[in-house]
Parts: sequence; structure tokens; C-alpha cells
Amino acid sequence: MTTMQKTRVLLLLCLLPLAPTLGKRGYVGWQAVQGVWAQGQLSPRDADLRAATEAVRPLCVPVGEPKAGDWRATVIQPAQSFAQYVLSQPVQPTTERNTIYVMPLGEFSAEQSRIVDLSVEFLGLYFDCPAQLLPAAGADLVPDHARRIHPGHGEEQFCSAWVHGEFLKARLPADAAVCIALTATDLWPGGNTNFVFGQASLKDRTGVWSMARYGDPSISEAGFVECLRRTLKTASHETGHMFSMKHCEFYECNMSGSGSLAESDRYPLSLCPECLAKLQYSVQPDMQARFASLAAFCEREGLITEADYYRQAIRLTEAPSSE
Ligand SMILES: [Zn+2]
Ligand SMILES: [Zn+2]
Repeated sequence: MTTMQKTRVLLLLCLLPLAPTLGKRGYVGWQAVQGVWAQGQLSPRDADLRAATEAVRPLCVPVGEPKAGDWRATVIQPAQSFAQYVLSQPVQPTTERNTIYVMPLGEFSAEQSRIVDLSVEFLGLYFDCPAQLLPAAGADLVPDHARRIHPGHGEEQFCSAWVHGEFLKARLPADAAVCIALTATDLWPGGNTNFVFGQASLKDRTGVWSMARYGDPSISEAGFVECLRRTLKTASHETGHMFSMKHCEFYECNMSGSGSLAESDRYPLSLCPECLAKLQYSVQPDMQARFASLAAFCEREGLITEADYYRQAIRLTEAPSSE
């Protein structure tokens, strides 16, 4: 064994005992070791970017122990700090590929169609990119092997992995930063899994989400707002994945993984400081202008809690007065 090889083995033996002590699970601890290492690799500009998003911390709730049935209680996933995100060479819009495309798939009621239009507008503001609706694709384009009748509730489901992994991948517009399908039919990812709210690729720039479980928006004004809020949460969550953002392990955040409607209802339509830094790095919006446009949208559409959040975010990120 050469001296170099001996040094590597020694370094590994030194780091391994750290892993279980840095988190509840050794795997998570190892991620923390990597995160500490990645933090030291940030350029001064990126370190400043991360420091700027810290202003919204007072508005965010750190995660506690997961409740029974929560996503974090059932799925072990590596945490992704801002520094790890930067080092992952994330998907970003380019001059040639700068538009978010949304493709409706299947049938929609009039109220659901209104929510499709609002989702496109919201995604454009949230990611500060042009956002466009593609012509709708009929349910007849979904082949038999990518649909099933759910064995429990008896409703039809489309296979989310097929939608974003095959269907959309073959139809990605040339100028698409990312492309996401939206359906009112329930989704399952394949195999014996029950359902998913949405699914997206971290690298292929495709995704899909469903509003099937978000209630009937025609039932009342409140029902419409509830369905809109849930749909926007999943739209922005899955699009965040397409810009290479992994699930948030730090705060109750729009990028938190969710395994049930009750759990996703707990999470906000906004990002924690760590995930906000990823968005700022990826799409580079003016942070205050973005908060202002989102506050105006939420206020107009009756999303009161969210409008309040974005107004407070504007206040917290204002430059101190020179007077
Ligand atoms: Zn997710
Ligand atoms: Zn987060």
C-alpha cells in the first residue's frame, strides 16, 4: 500500500466514527459530514447569497421529531444543504432553455381548468421564469400498461413514472427549462405503491402532479381556495425537484416530503432559508420583487396566510435605512 493509500484509509477510519454521532441515523450523520465539507467549498458570492436568505428564518418552523406516518418517519433520505446543492451542479434555466411548461393531461372540470391557469401563473412568479401552458393531452394517450384501477378505492390512476419518464421526456419543448404535466386523475408511481401527489426527476427536467386528492373546487369558494392552495404547493414542490432541489430535512417547508394530505396541509407554500437559497442560486430572481409578486398573487386569490407570509418576508429582507 502506498503512502497516499494509507493516508486515505486513515482519513476514512477517522471520519467513520463521526457519522453515527452526528444524527439519529448513521446515514444522516454521514450526510452531515459531507455537508460540513461542502460548506467550506462555497465561493464568497454563494456564501453571501446563503447569508441573505437567513432573513426569513423567523418565519420558519424547524422540524421536530416526525409524527407516526410522516414522510420522514417512513423514508430515509439524504439531507441536502445549500452547499451540497451548489456542488451537485443543479438544473438551472439557460438563455436557450428558460421556460416552464405545463401540460394538462386528461379531463378537467371548469373550476379545475381555472386552477390549471392559476398554477401556470403562480409557477412563473415563484420561479421568476416565463411559464406557458401546452395544448392539453387526452387521456387516450395513456397506454394500458401506464394506468390501473386502484385495488382499494376503485378509481383510475395514471402511472407517474411513465408520465414524466417516458411521455413528457419525448415531448420536452426545445426551450423548456422544465416541463410538468398536471392531471385531475390520481397517480401511482408503479408497482404496489398506493399513490403519489406528484413525482419529478432531479436531472431530466420533467415531472407530473395531480389535483385528484385536493377536494372539489366547485363545492364552494372556500373549497376552491383549498384546492388551489394544495395544487400550488405540489406544483411548486415538484418543479423545485426539477431544479434539482431534494426534500427539505431542516424546516417545515414547501420542499418537505409528504406522505399524506394531513401532512402536506401542515407545510407552507414558501421556502425555508436553506431551500430559498437554492432557488435564488438556480433562477436568480430579485428576492424582494419575487416576494412582492407572490404576495400580490396570494392576496388576489384569497390565500390569506400565504399573502401574510410574503408581506412579512418583504419587511424582513428590506435593506436597513441609511437615515
Ligand atoms: Zn417531493
Ligand atoms: Zn426547506
